[in-house]
Amino acid sequence: MDFNNKTKKLLNYEEKKCVFCEGKNVVKAGQRFKREGRVQKYYCKTCKRYFCSSPMLHKTYSPKAILNGISLYNLGYKLDII
Ligand SMILES: [Zn+2]
Repeated sequence: MDFNNKTKKLLNYEEKKCVFCEGKNVVKAGQRFKREGRVQKYYCKTCKRYFCSSPMLHKTYSPKAILNGISLYNLGYKLDII
């Protein structure tokens, strides 16, 4: 009786829960670009609220990285322009 799981895998369905009501009646509502990376914005049809997924933080920030924050920011800014 794993038909549902198989179907989900076939469709490659990305399950996203609402952060407010934990409902699954959620649609994608565009993306936001932050310094930390790309953030997917969602709209919950159940409670009619928008929320964002947490940014994909692949790296943990070391104190050194924070000290270099300004230059990292400038680098990201230039990349965004291009
Ligand atoms: Zn909700």
